[in-house]
Amino acid sequence: MPFFRGVDFLHIDTLLSDEEKLVRQSVRQWVDERLMPLIKDCYNAGRFPAELIPEMGEMGFFGANLEGYGAAGMSNLDYGLIMQELERGDSGIRSFVSVQGALVMWPLLTYGNEEQKRKYLPKLATGELIGCFGLTEPGFGSNPGGMTTTAVRDGGDWILNGEKTWITNGSVAHLAVVWARTDEGVRGFLVERGTPGYSASDIHGKLSMRASVTSSLALAECRIPDAQRLPDAVGLKAALGCLSQARYGIGWGVLGAAMDCFETARLYTVERKQFDNRPIASHQLVQEKLAWMVTEITKGQLLAVHCGRLKDRKQLDFAHISMLKRNNVAMALECARLSRDLLGANGIIDDYPLMRHLCNLETVKTYEGTDHIHALVLGERVTGVAAYK
Ligand SMILES: Cc1cc2nc3c(=O)[nH]c(=O)nc-3n(C[C@H](O)[C@H](O)[C@H](O)COP(=O)(O)OP(=O)(O)OC[C@H]3O[C@@H](n4cnc5c(N)ncnc54)[C@H](O)[C@@H]3O)c2cc1C
Repeated sequence: MPFFRGVDFLHIDTLLSDEEKLVRQSVRQWVDERLMPLIKDCYNAGRFPAELIPEMGEMGFFGANLEGYGAAGMSNLDYGLIMQELERGDSGIRSFVSVQGALVMWPLLTYGNEEQKRKYLPKLATGELIGCFGLTEPGFGSNPGGMTTTAVRDGGDWILNGEKTWITNGSVAHLAVVWARTDEGVRGFLVERGTPGYSASDIHGKLSMRASVTSSLALAECRIPDAQRLPDAVGLKAALGCLSQARYGIGWGVLGAAMDCFETARLYTVERKQFDNRPIASHQLVQEKLAWMVTEITKGQLLAVHCGRLKDRKQLDFAHISMLKRNNVAMALECARLSRDLLGANGIIDDYPLMRHLCNLETVKTYEGTDHIHALVLGERVTGVAAYK
């Protein structure tokens, strides 16, 4: 099978350096050679391809845009291209890498002390250790500020009680970054697998993100030493800071899923013949859909490249990221729907990636801030009025 050739209608590649294109090419090739042959069966079986973790570590995917402690130290632009290529493979694989890098390594690097960084980061970078991020609770999703998980001081220890749910990598993680309410506000804690009182159980029956592990975490009188508290993770703002890192990667990742859908539909419509043996690509209604997709993908690419450059200059803020995540996810979801439509009945079978991307992207629309919540972030930014409540 030929390698994916990418979608570059407007010469967006001219905005990228040779090094950036090389990074993209190496991940693209890895996805085509290593992930693509597995992903359909993994998705159908509801299995995350854990056998790929060491290779992903060697490729530098985990915390690729972080400096030191074994991380690859790439730019935010490079990191975005990595996410794009991974999500072309599958949103579940990109989710694994997002959680490990943006939601576990980033808070360790940003809020952790030297001892915590040395202990965990190098092994997280290689994939020897897997991490998860516990913020969402059964009663608090869009509004994590309402969390009821508590951490109470007991001498030199903390006692954690509560439940986290919808946690990516939960049951396979060696280390959980858990957010809990203390007397002084929300704080972040590092809970190791095997700590008495801490357990994880998988959520079954998912029809989306089937190649990704999603779990609930239970904390019952879970005692951890103060050394396992992230000293600079102070307030809900600290947790939201992690989400900004992950959402940036998602804004890029979904471009990959959209490109895969578009390219699948483009190739199919040129081959498929109906009515007088003419390719369905010759019909205006079909071309209109392809034109919409390539235009919206191109706009999404420009948004992502610009956000990447701003992030590298430390000028990207959370409201910019809301625009990137919200726009590109909605665009990718629509590309998946339109592409599925253009393949007719064949669009629903797993010989093609369309239903898999479509189902995955429904989750991507919901997690890391729903489409609504990002609209409210943007609304607040342009009006000065918060409409969350
Ligand atoms: C596969 C998967 C993996 C996940 N991984 C993680 C993870 O690793 N760690 C983690 O902590 N969480 C994770 N999540 C949880 C995810 O972040 C939440 O599902 C998300 O924040 C939405 O919360 P909710 O599902 O409780 O929906 P709700 O908050 O109940 O929202 C339901 C609907 O109401 C709307 N709504 C809510 N409030 C408002 C409002 N004020 N104005 C307008 N509309 C509103 C929402 O937009 C949405 O349409 C994951 C979720 C999934 C599905």
